[in-house]
Amino acid sequence: MSAAPLSIRSLDRYFGDFHALKSVDLDVPSGSIFGFLGPNGAGKTTLIRCMMGLLRPTQGQITINGHDLRTSRRQALASVGAIVETPALYPNLTGRENLDIARHLTGSSPRDVAYVLDQVELSRDAHRKVGHYSLGMRQRLGLARALLARPKLLVLDEPANGLDPAGIRDMRHLIRRLPEEADTTVFMSSHLLSEVEQTATHLALLRSGEVLFQGSLQALLATRPRRIRLDVDQVDSALASIAACGWSLIARESTADTHTPDTHKPDSQAVLHIEAGSEAAATAQLNRHLVEAGVNVHGLCRENAGLEDLFLDLTHSHDPRQPNEAQQPEEVAS
Ligand code: ATP
Repeated sequence: MSAAPLSIRSLDRYFGDFHALKSVDLDVPSGSIFGFLGPNGAGKTTLIRCMMGLLRPTQGQITINGHDLRTSRRQALASVGAIVETPALYPNLTGRENLDIARHLTGSSPRDVAYVLDQVELSRDAHRKVGHYSLGMRQRLGLARALLARPKLLVLDEPANGLDPAGIRDMRHLIRRLPEEADTTVFMSSHLLSEVEQTATHLALLRSGEVLFQGSLQALLATRPRRIRLDVDQVDSALASIAACGWSLIARESTADTHTPDTHKPDSQAVLHIEAGSEAAATAQLNRHLVEAGVNVHGLCRENAGLEDLFLDLTHSHDPRQPNEAQQPEEVAS
């Protein structure tokens, strides 16, 4: 079995007294698109700089494709391609000329250049000067350059940054194809949850230098509290059933005008939003309780909290640094 593309153990990084990365452990599975997600200032770039050997961790271990970055730096980084910040390209040269320069460094052939140009869908624009490229095209050319070295691990720091919606969509489609077409694992940082949600197979959530969650997207979604939207009459009996299930009411809306026939009292019907257990059978269980209690159920559906809510809950709750910007550290030379 081949070594994991990236494994990080107990990584700490201080800037002076400021603890920017706190005992970070990460395991990036082979062939995954691993979204590294966190709000501004969480420590994403700091970790990526440590991974790329640009910043020395205070302590801890980074292993890339089985090579310890501290003791086998050259071998570890040989199989990594990266775009960290905007790729530095020669604006007066064409896209192909830029890659021709890069291919001499990587020992690649002109055929490899044609292949990566095709992968990033720039073959038709390869003869144009890069100075005339859009930002999205420059990002894709940067990606083509990183792919020339046939990396086993591709590190992208905020790949959607600065791109317009069309550029973001193109980049997203491209990234999705990479594990299969380029036989690489993608590690991509982002503060854009929607991007990660649409692209990643796995993710880690970082807040204030700490990993709050890591695993598959499905595993994260499974941790979401389940909510149920219930449209009932006999509201008091319904509330008793909800309490009997051990669940709690989040909100109550009156629907007196929409469903209640004239003969019903207006306050006897409502839509209830309930926080239910996370088990899949929660909806059926509640329905059974309601029917047994003689409640008329006009509607019952699950409303899963979006990943966005989950992300905000995880990243903003109990964050000691959120309210006080003054606690930001002074810039310290790395
Ligand atoms: P963003 O999404 O805004 O790029 P990030 O998650 O990449 O944020 P980092 O740039 O890694 O966050 O910064 C993490 C924390 O470490 C921030 O509070 C930042 O101010 C601090 N920091 C980063 N580099 C240095 C440095 N050289 N000296 C002092 N503090 C630093």
